[in-house]
Parts: sequence; C-alpha cells; structure tokens
Amino acid sequence: CGIIGIVGKAPVAERLVESLKRLEYRGYDSAGVAGVVGARVERRRAKGKIKALEEVLAAEPLTATTGIGHTRWATHGAPNVANAHPHSAGRVTLVHNGIIENFAELKAELAAAGRTFESDTDTEVIAHLIDAELATGLAPIDAFKATLDQLTGAYALAVLIEGAENLVLGARRGSPLVVGEGQGEMFLGSDALAVGPFTNRVIYLDEGDYVALDHDSARIFDASGAAVTRPVRVVPTSA
Ligand code: GLU
Repeated sequence: CGIIGIVGKAPVAERLVESLKRLEYRGYDSAGVAGVVGARVERRRAKGKIKALEEVLAAEPLTATTGIGHTRWATHGAPNVANAHPHSAGRVTLVHNGIIENFAELKAELAAAGRTFESDTDTEVIAHLIDAELATGLAPIDAFKATLDQLTGAYALAVLIEGAENLVLGARRGSPLVVGEGQGEMFLGSDALAVGPFTNRVIYLDEGDYVALDHDSARIFDASGAAVTRPVRVVPTSA
C-alpha cells in the first residue's frame, strides 16, 4: 500500500517510520521495515498500527543506513506478521504494492524447484524469483529485470540485496513510484508525500520503469531495458 526506500548516510530506521506515518492516510493493516546491516539484511515487522512497529524497533533497534519500509493493505493472505512486508528469500528482501496475477503458477514452479515459502502473499514469489536469478550469476539489476519480465499484474517494488550495501532497486507497473534526490542520499516512495520530509526534488517514474539507487545516482531504465532520463521536478516542501 505505501512504500519508502532510503540509501542514506546515517541510520534510516527513524526516517523510514516517519515516512510510513505520512502514508498512513492510505489505510493499512500491518507495517514493516528492513535494512542492510553488514553482510545481512534484517527485518522488523508488526501487525496493526505504526506504533506497534515502533515498539518492535525500540526492543530491537535497526542500525542500517540503507533500508526500505511498507504499510500493507492485504490482498493475498491474512493481515498478520508472517504476511507483513518486507518479504525475504535468500539474498533478497523487498516490499510490494499491488497484485501479482500469475503468482500461483510462479509459486508452483518455485516450489517444484525446492523453494519453501513463509507467507501466503503473492509478493513472496518476487523475492524468490530475484534470488533464483542472482543464483545464476546475474548482477542485481539484471536479476531484477529478468524477474520483472516474468510478472503479470500490478506492482511498485523496493528491493534490498544482501552484499549490496548501498543499493535500493525499484520498479513500477500499474502502481506509482517516485525517486527523491537528496544530498548524497537517494529516496524511493510510493508518492511524493513519502519522500517529502527528506527532499523536494522528485522524479516521477514512467509506467514500466525500473531503477537502481545508490548514494549519488538513480539509474533509470524503461521496460525494454534501455537507460532513460526522466525530469526532476521541484515540489513544494512538506517537511
Ligand atoms: N498483494 C500484496 C499483499 O497482499 C501487497 C498489498 C499492498 O499493496 O499493500 O501482501
């Protein structure tokens, strides 16, 4: 339902939560964040209000400087912690807005290949697909593109990869996603409000675009895989 991603210079947990609060107006049933901590990606998730997620984070702080966050409005699978985003498989952790229409057949194929699932969501198959593509030796951006080509339905995605410490991948089809440009920091949000507390320089991704964010750049590609540039808009500050 709501997405935030940050490649930051300082710990991002508080800012992820701040952004999720900005997205509360959309409605949600659970929330979660994940971040790159050394060679690992760690998650914190909670059913119910953002306040419940804040309590989880208070008990188990997240020190990551690169991270993603999500407010979920369940479409596939009950609203509970196991179905709350972020979802993880192998090296991949991600959040998703929308519905993957061919998730049942993808899940059957992945299960036949020996993969096991922790949730009832349509989302979890995306993490497994990217992880499987990475396992063939593809670079993160290529594994991501190879996965997007297998999905039907609607998505906005924000993705973390273990071993890629300053990287957030994003993609949109049928669901909005924006990039926010900071000073040595980059942001991804499901709308301009999500990144509003951090920057007023926003790039609206086009339908089918995908993007690789690091500290200083947003490399944007269209659905065919061609590198593209999209205009930066200066929006009214909402901080
Ligand atoms: N279809 C996904 C789920 O049920 C994402 C829902 C959303 O957009 O929040 O978990």
